[in-house]
Amino acid sequence: MSNPTPRIAIVGAGPGGLLCAAVLRRHGIHATVLERDADAHHRGQGGSLDLHEHTGQAALTTAGLRDAFLELSRPEGQEMREYDHAGTLVAHEDNTGEPARPEIDRTDLRNLLLDDLGPDNVRWNTPVRQTVLTPDGQARLTLGDGTTEDYDLVVGADGAWSKVRPVLSDATPIHTGNTLVETWFTDADNLYPVLARMVGNGMMLATDANDPTHVLIGQRNSDGSIRVYIGLKCPHDWAEQAGVDPADTEAVRVHFLAMFAGWHEDLLRVLRENEGPFINRPVYRLPYPHTWQHTPGATLLGDAAHLMPPAGQGANLALIDAADLATAIAGAVAEGSSLDAAVQGYEQIMHPRGATAAEESFRALEH
Ligand SMILES: Cc1cc2nc3c(=O)[nH]c(=O)nc-3n(C[C@H](O)[C@H](O)[C@H](O)COP(=O)(O)OP(=O)(O)OC[C@H]3O[C@@H](n4cnc5c(N)ncnc54)[C@H](O)[C@@H]3O)c2cc1C
Repeated sequence: MSNPTPRIAIVGAGPGGLLCAAVLRRHGIHATVLERDADAHHRGQGGSLDLHEHTGQAALTTAGLRDAFLELSRPEGQEMREYDHAGTLVAHEDNTGEPARPEIDRTDLRNLLLDDLGPDNVRWNTPVRQTVLTPDGQARLTLGDGTTEDYDLVVGADGAWSKVRPVLSDATPIHTGNTLVETWFTDADNLYPVLARMVGNGMMLATDANDPTHVLIGQRNSDGSIRVYIGLKCPHDWAEQAGVDPADTEAVRVHFLAMFAGWHEDLLRVLRENEGPFINRPVYRLPYPHTWQHTPGATLLGDAAHLMPPAGQGANLALIDAADLATAIAGAVAEGSSLDAAVQGYEQIMHPRGATAAEESFRALEH
């Protein structure tokens, strides 16, 4: 006996939300994906992600997409070069033969998932403002235009500032004491050949052993462009405290050049020659372990459930959470068993996995 198909909403078309919808679709279950972005190309999706064999890649296998991922991915992107502040190469890991963690651009991953799901299966330009659980175990979403919709299950896949999380938990993100300021270079920039040599095929990290408060990170993307992150250990309002408007590129530049004084000229050129803006990205995390008492009608996956500092696990966990949840729901629908019990079973696996990874990521950031 099979259950009537439950009405499921997935809030957020990030990697987790899209993979969840794609796996459900493979089992013949339609889920409504609500995304605040105006369309698939609304904003750059950010840099490159390495997907791990037992989490991100395993999830793509569940979605039937691992081969397509391997075609798009860049094993050579695992190369890592470390420099000191004088520009001397101090470590070089050439992991290019290593199949476990190939890189993929976020945009390529989103397009892979959207192509599989069908872009029309996402309701773009549909921000969720509020979630409320009704006494009969259903969820009511209030959308940006003020209309409401009711579902049997709402999946919060809407990242750090989830609008679903408040019905399950009081936790809110806290600043980690770290901020990444992003900028980028293309092959049209004068600095590009120098930077491309330093970054190689993958990533570079430049540090000053005597002052760990600021670092430079470079990352090659699949179109050859190089994304740079200026990593700062600082309060969330560092710019305000320094009397700098974070939107004023020249003022930020002057501030960084003073901060990085004494670094090798090639590294300083990274701060001096970017043509685009500096984008301020404070790094937040949820307290860990972040768990909640199971409540019918809503659940969370990915960053909405266990936002952690970026140490290479967040997207991987979002994908494996999504695969596990979708598989559990599909099993319940096929067997005619309880949807609620299936969601609870997923949460029992996801909570400890997320807590362990969050603690590892937090510790990694402290070093
Ligand atoms: C600089 C940086 C580097 C990183 N590098 C890595 C890495 O190498 N490997 C790795 O595994 N992880 C990495 N991460 C972490 C990774 O980006 C996240 O963990 C991952 O994107 C989480 O996926 P998600 O689907 O849960 O949420 P998100 O990717 O945040 O997606 C959430 C989606 O929900 C939408 N949304 C939000 N609010 C609403 C709303 N109210 N209504 C409708 N839609 C909404 C958003 O527009 C978005 O599309 C990095 C993070 C950062 C900041």
